[in-house]
Amino acid sequence: MSTPELRKLWKLFLNTSDRAFEEWEKRGYIGSVNRPPFPEELRGMTCGAKTRAGTPCRQKGIYRNGRCKLHGGLSTGPITQEGKKKSSQNWKKRTP
Ligand SMILES: [Zn+2]
Repeated sequence: MSTPELRKLWKLFLNTSDRAFEEWEKRGYIGSVNRPPFPEELRGMTCGAKTRAGTPCRQKGIYRNGRCKLHGGLSTGPITQEGKKKSSQNWKKRTP
């Protein structure tokens, strides 16, 4: 199951737990992380995107955006001129 409300809750949960980790970092990693409890309704959440067969996607490996790797998860590569230039130079690192 995946609804827009569930995905919203998923993002909210990730953001609040990120903030808890930031606070922990500021405290100098003292004490334990004041993480929010994992919302039970998010357990077993699926991607839910419409597949080419017309059925909802059943992948459970969900990224921050609430979708799986096939439905909006992977990077499409560098966009800016700077990024393209940088990635075009990466091959040089491997040659001795
Ligand atoms: Zn999916």
